[in-house]
Amino acid sequence: MLATIRAAEREAGRDPEGVSLVAVSKGVAAETIETLLAAGHRAFAENRVQEMQVKWPPLLERHPAAELRFVGRLQSNKVMAAAGLAHVIESVDRESLARALSNCNAIRERSVRLLVQVNVGEESQKGGCPPAEADRFVTWCQAELGLRVSGVMGIPPRDTDPVPYFGLLRTLRDRMGLTELSMGMSADYEAAIQMGATHVRVGTAVFGPRPRR
Ligand SMILES: *Cc1c(COP(=O)(O)O)cnc(C)c1O
Repeated sequence: MLATIRAAEREAGRDPEGVSLVAVSKGVAAETIETLLAAGHRAFAENRVQEMQVKWPPLLERHPAAELRFVGRLQSNKVMAAAGLAHVIESVDRESLARALSNCNAIRERSVRLLVQVNVGEESQKGGCPPAEADRFVTWCQAELGLRVSGVMGIPPRDTDPVPYFGLLRTLRDRMGLTELSMGMSADYEAAIQMGATHVRVGTAVFGPRPRR
């Protein structure tokens, strides 16, 4: 996995180790995560608050250098729980959620970084703010709420060429002057690296297929 990422960096003419691998450990047992942490891997992501609350407190206690990212749909009433554990929340996508985050002390106290999720394919079943509203939403989060937005995240539609969607996300990130560009999953992370991803979120290609929920 890491070898493929390094090869994709080289091919894209990017800095060695410029892209980080976020291991998406949703549906993965804590013992399996522990093995990776013990081997020195640091960045992980979860997509459900409840699962994160069950698995992660002991893992974070044993591995304080771990970086936990939340990448799932976030309900405003779960913000406190998410902000108490995650170091990064990648799925900020609407005003009500942004307001809840700005009212949450843990966000400031723990310096939780926030990414705005953009619904690049404008799909009704996916979270994310519409691309046409992304600039305004980010500016509003920063100026009105004083939130620290450090980047954007997105998921292209399935079964289509992801490259134009990655390009759109990158354009938005550049235009807003942000740093993080979270894109690329098991099926398309090499293309995402070509298109400038700063980190890729990979689940099944790291852990194998997930059991069906
Ligand atoms: C599950 C998930 C991933 C990882 O997906 P894989 O196809 O298993 O690599 C990445 N990002 C988000 C937001 C996810 O929910």
